[in-house]
Amino acid sequence: MDDCIFCKIAQKELSSEVVYETKDVIAFRDVAPVAPTHILVIPKEHIQSLSQLGQSERSNLLPKIYDAIDELVKKESLDDKGYRVVSNTGKEGGQTVNHLHFHLLGGRSMQWPPG
Ligand code: AMP
Repeated sequence: MDDCIFCKIAQKELSSEVVYETKDVIAFRDVAPVAPTHILVIPKEHIQSLSQLGQSERSNLLPKIYDAIDELVKKESLDDKGYRVVSNTGKEGGQTVNHLHFHLLGGRSMQWPPG
């Protein structure tokens, strides 16, 4: 999608610190981290949000996203300490970039409830 910053990152038209990449999935460090580890895991294909995931993406894409998270959790040494995975969805969900993404947050104690 032409005006989507995460599509531009996925296509390497916009620079980012890429920490994981496969044919379908890319992960990069958040430009404004809110935790020592703050990585965004996204499908390269433009999907607006979790609410736009069709049945085939649920079956085919989500396992690939989770493979990325699993590998990154190990790389960032978060497996024993714990971490949080968040996908803000829609306006009231706090989504500001309309390209499906999963925040991987770790390296500090998280609070609940989130703001
Ligand atoms: P959300 O508010 O859940 O839609 O998350 C969007 C995230 O994208 C925010 O945490 C931003 O800091 C992050 N972000 C926006 N632009 C960039 C960029 N160019 N590179 C890396 N992260 C970005």
